[in-house]
Amino acid sequence: MSLVQRFWLILTVVVVATVIALATLGDRLVTGAPKVAPEPVRAASGLGDPYLPEAGGAGYDVQHYEVRVNAAGLGDELRGTTTVTAVASQDLDEFHLDLHLSARTVTVNGGPATFTQHGDDLAITAARPRPATPAITAGQSFTVTVGYEGDPSAVKLRGAPAYYRAGSEFVIAGEPGSASLWYAVNDHPRDAATMDLIVTVPRGREAIGAGRLIEHGADPDVADADRWQWRVDAPTVSYATFLAVGDYRIEQGTADGRPLVYAVSTRLSASAQNDALRWLRQTPAAVRKLEAHLGPYPFSGIGGFVPGMNMYWGGLETAMNPVYHRQLIGRETLLNHELAHMWFGDTVTLAEWNDLFNNESLTSYAEWLVTTGSNPAENFDGNYRGRASEADYWGPALSDPGLRELFVRVYDRGPTVVHALRTRMGDSTFFPFLRAWAQQRGPRSLEDFRRAADDATPEDLTGFFAEWLDQTDRPEPTEANGVPKR
Ligand SMILES: [Zn+2]
Repeated sequence: MSLVQRFWLILTVVVVATVIALATLGDRLVTGAPKVAPEPVRAASGLGDPYLPEAGGAGYDVQHYEVRVNAAGLGDELRGTTTVTAVASQDLDEFHLDLHLSARTVTVNGGPATFTQHGDDLAITAARPRPATPAITAGQSFTVTVGYEGDPSAVKLRGAPAYYRAGSEFVIAGEPGSASLWYAVNDHPRDAATMDLIVTVPRGREAIGAGRLIEHGADPDVADADRWQWRVDAPTVSYATFLAVGDYRIEQGTADGRPLVYAVSTRLSASAQNDALRWLRQTPAAVRKLEAHLGPYPFSGIGGFVPGMNMYWGGLETAMNPVYHRQLIGRETLLNHELAHMWFGDTVTLAEWNDLFNNESLTSYAEWLVTTGSNPAENFDGNYRGRASEADYWGPALSDPGLRELFVRVYDRGPTVVHALRTRMGDSTFFPFLRAWAQQRGPRSLEDFRRAADDATPEDLTGFFAEWLDQTDRPEPTEANGVPKR
């Protein structure tokens, strides 16, 4: 081995050793380093509703809310704890609830969670028990507990108000949004759930909510306070829940085997209270008349509630226990309307807000069917012929009225369409179809309604619905459009 050879040998050995060392080190870098956790799985902050895209939160399906509210303090302040039981529809680390009050504590499955809040959007990030696995896996049932406090009267909602106060009485109720003023909620009608509401109030006062009254009495945990518990035991939508605290005259009993509860504010005069109770006592008879068309009533109890202030609306279909405007007591149409919503809206729910036709048109038509002296054929004629030249009656299209006009024409043009559908289908097809539709549970779109009607007849109703729902002028007086000959 010459010097030159030795040089090349040494050089080769050094190069080979370096390569081996680097390869080993590289291998160590790959296999020996701690694993980098995968990115957190984030669900969308809203459900993407065409009219209210930020409403609700994606990635889970709420089964039950347990809402505990303390309204025993003075003023408008509320303190509450909402426990949400949900099933994940995807893997989740971060997900969103709606809440307008200030969140103070959040746990997921009893364990730690972090949260941020912007407006009514509450973003919750659950801790991962194992770094490589999402905190919640698809299909898993989980609970979220949110403690919060705040003043719902200070919240400015877009559109109609939902917080009402008169003296020492307050009511939080409204559609499309009101629930997030008093509990942590997936605030979209696509996600119906059952609810237990437990409210602490100053001793001697009453708390009213959706559902049936389970119990009330001295609060075992709070001095000089009473506690009221209400339960909605069939899944319903968040806008059909409410909270009221005040001084109420309460009447309880049973009708047709169901517990009933009526509540009337003592802010009403004594004679108005009597009128209101006398009117509310018509509820069981109205439910029976509706059952004849719609099939069995979907809830386990009935009720009715008249607060002591003027609301923005005449009535609200809060589950099992509708809220009625005090100036409209005595109106049979209102009672029939809100009770028909127990089927259409409260249990056969909306998939999206632009499906509102399914709620209000069918409810208004049920009102046409059962109200004393009402004649659906005459009502149809009064609208179809009587309003023929009113341009703003025939628009906007009921299939997409826009958020601003969502709650306008659906109450009068809506039932007119339903009557035309009845004429087109014939009574022997229409009434079984109406009943079958009313007996469903869960979200249904307007497209589902069109398809179900089409499937119920041997005929093709595509053109009928296009004329009545998608156009903004009066459908021609043809048999195909369900317009009876004069
Ligand atoms: Zn309605």
